[in-house]
Amino acid sequence: MKADRPTKFIFVTGGVVSSLGKGLVAASVGALLETRGLRVTLLKADPYLNVDPGTMNPRQHGEVFVTHDGAETDLDLGHYERFTNAVMSADNSFSTGRVYDAVITKERRGDYLGSTVQVVPHITDEIRRRILAPVHDADDIAIVEIGGTVGDIESLPFLEAIRQIRSELSSEHVLFVHVTLVPWLEAAQELKTKPTQHSVKNLRQTGIQPDVLICRASRLIPPRVLQKISMTCDVPRQAAIQAQDLDSIYKLPLHFYEQGLDQVIVDKLKIWARRPDLSVWQKISSSLDAPQGTCNIGIVGKYVDVIDSYKSVHEALIHAGIATRLRVVVSYIDAEQLEQQRSEEILQKLQGIIVPGGFGERGIDGKIQAINYCRRRSIPFLGICYGMQLAVIEFARHQLHLPQAGSTEIEPQAPDPVIDLMPEQKTHVDKGASMRLGAYPCKLKRDSKAFTVYGREDISERHRHRFEFNNAYREHFAAQGMYCSGVSPDDQMVEIMELQGHPWFVCCQFHPELQSSPRQAHPLFRAFVEVAYQ
Ligand code: GLN
Repeated sequence: MKADRPTKFIFVTGGVVSSLGKGLVAASVGALLETRGLRVTLLKADPYLNVDPGTMNPRQHGEVFVTHDGAETDLDLGHYERFTNAVMSADNSFSTGRVYDAVITKERRGDYLGSTVQVVPHITDEIRRRILAPVHDADDIAIVEIGGTVGDIESLPFLEAIRQIRSELSSEHVLFVHVTLVPWLEAAQELKTKPTQHSVKNLRQTGIQPDVLICRASRLIPPRVLQKISMTCDVPRQAAIQAQDLDSIYKLPLHFYEQGLDQVIVDKLKIWARRPDLSVWQKISSSLDAPQGTCNIGIVGKYVDVIDSYKSVHEALIHAGIATRLRVVVSYIDAEQLEQQRSEEILQKLQGIIVPGGFGERGIDGKIQAINYCRRRSIPFLGICYGMQLAVIEFARHQLHLPQAGSTEIEPQAPDPVIDLMPEQKTHVDKGASMRLGAYPCKLKRDSKAFTVYGREDISERHRHRFEFNNAYREHFAAQGMYCSGVSPDDQMVEIMELQGHPWFVCCQFHPELQSSPRQAHPLFRAFVEVAYQ
């Protein structure tokens, strides 16, 4: 860290209940500080014992967000990148599992020279190291979100570590933001402050007094209630901020600005910052408020009951709506349901369909039906990762007369393995080791739709998959109108496939949704929504 203007820290904790949107609060605070010319970075510390979320079920934990350097991380890192200019990497998140793994490895190596290894100081030291390590000299502020809820057994070492950081760096360099719930009690017709008071009391027991309270509520919190929270929790009135449920998460930075949160932060941290330039967020907000039409998009997937499983795809569609001034209504369609019912009835209300990434066998016939429908009926289609692989299979089976075409992920002995491992991957014993993760360059063919929408030849996109298009079939596909419009620079891997003569049938092996933001919609999503609306 630079000595003259050291990086300051904002720690975000949560109380009362989980799922309060701490990640969005952290991301919005970052966005707001960037409007004042400050450079921010963000970090997420998660109390669970999994070493990383790569193996966690999307149903329980939402999607896995992949960073440019190939780390499989928590979906909050996606919010951080969507709201701010910070670029997340493997070091920007860690879990208790990773901390223990590091400490136990050191212990086995003999690094602790025979001393008794304990939660304090060894685990807390490792947490501190991981909080401080990814912060660069150029960062004015590091926003650190502590996962979990204050009062949980698992959170204690994290709270102790951040308390130590404050006592080490002094209070001018550290600010604590606590996100709480102010529930509405229907019977009493009242917003209740007691849970917030108890949560702050809990936090104080760990030696932390919050500087700012972000109070989540389903309705507007009247000034007198905020005054009461301020008084009982010992935070200045202007630091008791409300976070009302909004119709779009992208209005949160402005919502906080209107209450003076940025000023509270820069005053407390004694940091010089220019006046905020909110034009970007104002533009986003006005686009959301005045759509010029509605576009109905369907996502055909396996985990449709939990929308967080396709979080980035969902958000990328909203971004496309912001860029095109359209209200994008996203419907989730259970692929297995398509297998049982007449799929056309379900799909006909949609103007465009996405088949997103996925793994395994369940629901693939339904997805293939949806793809077939889009291809034959000229309905705009965007296939992402598994969605591309299934589009390839659909085309091979129904257009290339290869009824036994498949992916070796599902059918290792498929007679026509149009989707297969690359030859060099086949020798990998450990499946995890052969996953293609993170950003890879891609070259676009000049006369393609992809080139037109990206407006350049060289792009870089993030991946998370093992299987690839089988090059042995490239010419066969191209001869029938499905050609690769994007390839790896050495031409070995197919990155984008397009169907000729179709309004929009574009499939990519990578995950474009991971690089979309409300400030800059991803070109593939934007164009897809534009064509779907026409
Ligand atoms: N299951 C496919 C593979 O491993 C696709 C993965 C994905 O969609 N992320 O290649």
